[in-house]
Amino acid sequence: MPDDDRAASDKASRHEAGLEFNVFRGVRDIDGGPVLPVRLKHDDMFCFSCHRGVSCWNDCCHGADVMLTPYDILRLSRGLGIPPAELVDRYAYPADFERAGLPVNKLKMDGDAGTRACVFLDGEAGCTVYDDRPATCRYYPLGLGSIKQKDGKEGDETLDFHFLVKEAHCQGHKEEKLQSVGDFRTEQGVEPYDAVNRGWMEILMKMASWRSMGGPGGKEVSDQTKRMFYMVSSDIDEFRRFVFESRFLEIYEIDPEIIEQLKTNDEALLALGFDWLKNVMFNEPTISMKQQVLQEAIGRTRDDMGAA
Ligand code: SF4
Ligand code: SF4
Repeated sequence: MPDDDRAASDKASRHEAGLEFNVFRGVRDIDGGPVLPVRLKHDDMFCFSCHRGVSCWNDCCHGADVMLTPYDILRLSRGLGIPPAELVDRYAYPADFERAGLPVNKLKMDGDAGTRACVFLDGEAGCTVYDDRPATCRYYPLGLGSIKQKDGKEGDETLDFHFLVKEAHCQGHKEEKLQSVGDFRTEQGVEPYDAVNRGWMEILMKMASWRSMGGPGGKEVSDQTKRMFYMVSSDIDEFRRFVFESRFLEIYEIDPEIIEQLKTNDEALLALGFDWLKNVMFNEPTISMKQQVLQEAIGRTRDDMGAA
């Protein structure tokens, strides 16, 4: 495998020349080393085509390492007509996104070691959930990463980039179809996935970045934070119950119109969940406490400190 193509490992979080690179695992697992990816921009061109005529048809749906994003789970659960919790229970397994120290779900593959066919693969018929296939499957053979200034100050611009993954078994790279990264993204329908998942990816990347620099306050992510992150990421029904049946709406300032939307709109609820997590995990001003709650909390702190 050429060095450039080894670049896609999720181990590749590197600090060089004043820049920090983070590779979000948007590709299936490959035997990669920490080599910086060759960045592709929106208009850059590459040759690739995947169709039933290729000799490797469905090879990449065996033993694949596919992390399920929150929007993947929503789309698959809607497509299959089952609740997200059941989707995860039947078709996913829990895993760690190691660099961030946060729990995620991955798509089940058959076989004891998960080296055989994807649970959604049906022989020659191919992918049985094609219209709702996960973002990783859509992106392949492109990977997704981000780049930002090394000092990581708030407000620093983070730029997304893509890179090409060339696995030896994939014959699609020998096809002559020339296309831009942008055209490929449109054809594969990744835009809505990126739009809904953006806040979630930002959390993973920020946590990975913090940990690579010694972690937030040098501490590990707490179990409670992991549980909150997992609930928002994996089970939108559970998070809705949490919002409407706990003191959440008494504590946080949320527009009444938005509250109405949250009752039925899963995407809006996910956006709230990511904002809430960013506030709790990184103290970002993405969601506000009600003034009265804030005053009470300040009062309690003053009492605890014995202030007059
Ligand atoms: S979900 Fe579909 S495209 Fe993705 S690995 Fe499974 S069978 Fe292949
Ligand atoms: S060409 Fe590549 S993406 Fe298409 S089936 Fe073969 S291995 Fe999979």
